[in-house]
Amino acid sequence: MKLKHLLIATFILVTALPLFIGLYSLNSYMGVQYREQVKSNLSAISQIAKLRILAGVERANDNVAQIASRTQLRRLLVLWNDTRDAQYRAQLTRIINDAALDRSYLRSIGVFDHQGQFVTATHGFEKLSSLASAQFEDRPIRLEQHNGVVQLSRVAPLLLDGRLAGYVKVDFSTQFLNQLVRDRTGLGQTGEWLIAMQDDNGDALFATPLKYDPKAAFTRTVAFTQGTVPIIQALSGNELVLEQSPDYRGVPVLASTRYIDQLGWGLVAKMDESEVNAMVYANRTVIYAAELGIVLLAVIVGVGLSIYISQPIENLKTYIEKVTHEGELIDPPRVTRGWQEVRELTAHFSYMMHTLRALNENLQDKIDERTAELTQANALLEKTANQDPLTSLFNRRFFTLRFEQELDRSTRYGCLFALVLLDIDYFKKINDQWGHDMGDEVLKEVARFLLASSRSSDLVARIGGEEFCILIPECEQDKVLVYLERLRCDLAELSFTAKDTLFTISASFGVAFYQPGMKSGKVLLKQADEALYEAKHAGRNQVCVYQGQLPS
Ligand code: GH3
Ligand code: MG
Ligand code: MG
Repeated sequence: MKLKHLLIATFILVTALPLFIGLYSLNSYMGVQYREQVKSNLSAISQIAKLRILAGVERANDNVAQIASRTQLRRLLVLWNDTRDAQYRAQLTRIINDAALDRSYLRSIGVFDHQGQFVTATHGFEKLSSLASAQFEDRPIRLEQHNGVVQLSRVAPLLLDGRLAGYVKVDFSTQFLNQLVRDRTGLGQTGEWLIAMQDDNGDALFATPLKYDPKAAFTRTVAFTQGTVPIIQALSGNELVLEQSPDYRGVPVLASTRYIDQLGWGLVAKMDESEVNAMVYANRTVIYAAELGIVLLAVIVGVGLSIYISQPIENLKTYIEKVTHEGELIDPPRVTRGWQEVRELTAHFSYMMHTLRALNENLQDKIDERTAELTQANALLEKTANQDPLTSLFNRRFFTLRFEQELDRSTRYGCLFALVLLDIDYFKKINDQWGHDMGDEVLKEVARFLLASSRSSDLVARIGGEEFCILIPECEQDKVLVYLERLRCDLAELSFTAKDTLFTISASFGVAFYQPGMKSGKVLLKQADEALYEAKHAGRNQVCVYQGQLPS
């Protein structure tokens, strides 16, 4: 795995992943919290609405109590009961018109006698033949509809000295209820208030217009059997927050139900579930977007940081590969920014390359120097390996090599060559008489003489103490013998001085010629050696040819 990928994976694991999980959990938690908040809001709003309705009812009660407390009203009603005199009715009418004057929310006041028969009313009051007082006994205040107008009615008995004088019925405008229902603050786009009471069948009868059905008041009902519908729950006296409950339309809603015991009313504040969910999702979408943004940012920062950390190392790696594979001692790429360790590492590489180059150059110089020395030494070695140190002639080793080559060549081309062995006569005596150094001088002089007297194609070598050899290629026997004879004579002419005494030397020569068909060089050597022995035996200072080859 590459360092860059490892770093990216690590960064995402330690930052983006926990961040994502954290935000996701927070999101879920906030979704739940938001729903809980909507529920508690609905509950609070419905509670306040309930209190406002109760306050409105209370005010109606107070008003009725004030009207009923008028003694004159009660007295005149007793008189009416007793006399049925029209003047009393006229007076009663005046009194109630008076009472209604400064109370705009009063729609009308009606007066009934002790038998519940209609007596009089303020202007606009519908003439009722009788008052069904029984229906007010359990709920003296109730909503009712007359000629399409909804009103709140309160009936109070009028008593004088413990005797029932009659009844007063006050109709109030339901303005405050309508205002309450219209004010949908806190209920969102889909929310609404429901106020309903039980009709004669026990079903829920809506008392106010509905958002989705403006003509619902006193017309629309919900069957009491539909127990899951919030308004039925409210009318059952249950004050709850219901979720996913179908409302009167059958649409799932979130609803807070209230029951107003004094009136027997159910009150519901509700919102469509779809809107609540949309709000939760809207919030979620914002958080998800933020989450995605943060995670993306973490990934971008992670990738950036990983590249920032790993790129200089990758560059160094590429550089080292180049140095290793191509063998070029080049400087690393310049790193002016990035992390300190890499900059330092690059600087060290640069320094190392500089040192290596210097070492390399030095090494090359040394190698050149050593090679030259070696070549020299080799040349010397070769020379000493083939050369006799005293006389500088070729030695026995080199002679043997050349002798073999000459044999090959002559065998191949069928040409003749002569092998001459030369031994200084009585050399031991020279040593003995004039000293070893003098012996050496003689050997050197003989060597010089032999070299000077031979052709460049001949090979002159010292093959023993005072034994020499001459290899004469491509020759004729007669000419060789003439040449050797002259050589012997010239050698005998050489003179040496030792201790002011002149002395001369002589040498014996043994010659053998290469004959085509000769199997080995050893035979030729042996023949030459035999000839030399012959020369020695015959008295020295002479040239002898191997007997078997003497010219006829
Ligand atoms: P002959 O005529 O039978 O060849 O007699 P000779 O004395 O030459 O032969 P011999 O083999 O008896 O003696 C060879 C001598 O050469 C013996 C040795 O001390 C001497 N000698 C061999 N190599 C060297 C050398 O490098 N320098 C000197 N000064 N003497 C050498
Ligand atoms: Mg000898
Ligand atoms: Mg000798």
